[in-house]
Amino acid sequence: MPEAKKPEIGAEIEALCPKCKGATVHVIEVIKTPELMKVMCKTCLNSHRFRPPKGGATKTLKTPKAKKPKLDPQTREERKWNRLLEHADKEKAVSYSMNSSFTENDVIDHTKFGVGVVVKILDHGKITVIFQDGLRNMVQNFKTR
Ligand SMILES: [Zn+2]
Repeated sequence: MPEAKKPEIGAEIEALCPKCKGATVHVIEVIKTPELMKVMCKTCLNSHRFRPPKGGATKTLKTPKAKKPKLDPQTREERKWNRLLEHADKEKAVSYSMNSSFTENDVIDHTKFGVGVVVKILDHGKITVIFQDGLRNMVQNFKTR
């Protein structure tokens, strides 16, 4: 206990109340020793022996665990990109060229957008690639069109 304040008659003290079944504020009525006091519960006005509140500590209101702060600035797409790249073979990344032909899960190395993974073949001439900054539709098979 940090404070060495002597209890005095009439002072308020937190104690365990047998009637309220919990720690409530009590008023000290009789002091024999700091451990042996008669207190009156301010809630139910019942006088009884002083009992220190559970755990000896003052109100330990259970604070519900705070929701996870949004530390993660990653977008859903970025996480997906991370996940995909974890399993992707970056060694196999091919430089993107709109003349190339791609298939799903191909790893692309784009000069501007970086490494991406082909997530969808839209049609013969278009693919959807996930890059770190999101999804992009890219051209493929350009020369054959
Ligand atoms: Zn009470």
